[in-house]
Amino acid sequence: MTFVATVLTLYPEMFPGPLRTSLAGRALGQLWSLDTRNIRDFATDRHRSVDDTPAGGGAGMVLKADVLAAALDSVSDADEPRRPMLAMTPRGAPLTQARVRDLAAGPGAIILCGRFEGFDERIFEARALEPVSIGDYVLSGGELGAMVLLDACVRLLPGVMGAASSGEEESFDAGLLEYPHYTRPVTWEGRTIPEVLRSGDHARIAAWRHEASIRDTRLRRPDLTLRHGGVKQAPPSGAQRDE
Ligand code: SAM
Repeated sequence: MTFVATVLTLYPEMFPGPLRTSLAGRALGQLWSLDTRNIRDFATDRHRSVDDTPAGGGAGMVLKADVLAAALDSVSDADEPRRPMLAMTPRGAPLTQARVRDLAAGPGAIILCGRFEGFDERIFEARALEPVSIGDYVLSGGELGAMVLLDACVRLLPGVMGAASSGEEESFDAGLLEYPHYTRPVTWEGRTIPEVLRSGDHARIAAWRHEASIRDTRLRRPDLTLRHGGVKQAPPSGAQRDE
């Protein structure tokens, strides 16, 4: 198995969910595996409590560190290479395509999903958890975030995508959004595919695509341009690289 995923959640029935369809679904059980653990199975009191009121007061409930630790300890790998342990939280570093590529190249991931107000903070240090956010908005639970992360990783596993090249030169790899795509018919509702893309001149096409990537990134994601220290010139091949 190339990539082994374990998800710790209060709602194991949500999995594999959408990951059972399309690319990820076809590869599930062949190139990657997914198992879930119910965090509630690690509660120790007779009410099977997993949460308690927040220290300092306030609304909501907090997932207990002792229960989370027991759940994590039940899956931590004894053998090398150890899988990274990730915790889904809006307080984490935003997930990037670079991190996804790293994870996909590794042995898999153990993913902890929160609910309510989230985790007792002490669990992060105690179990060396990497806090991961999937964006600047708040979901009701970490499960959809875990699915997003797994989908992004699994499609990069060798053999998952049909054409090996379709994972190359994608959005974010060079700090740029990908260039726009078109397909037949040439003219649709009065809009025509740019002439250069029909020219068969590969150098011109590569240059046009690079310019389009830069234009769209500046327009839609100026933060990406800044994060990557501005946009450099295209290499002679015209391939999108800005490293
Ligand atoms: N009180 C938390 C805060 O304001 O940061 C939000 C808790 S949220 C309602 C419950 C759980 O959903 C979190 O513990 C986390 O696992 C998950 N979650 C919510 N938004 C997320 C995001 N943007 N990325 C990753 N996980 C998220």
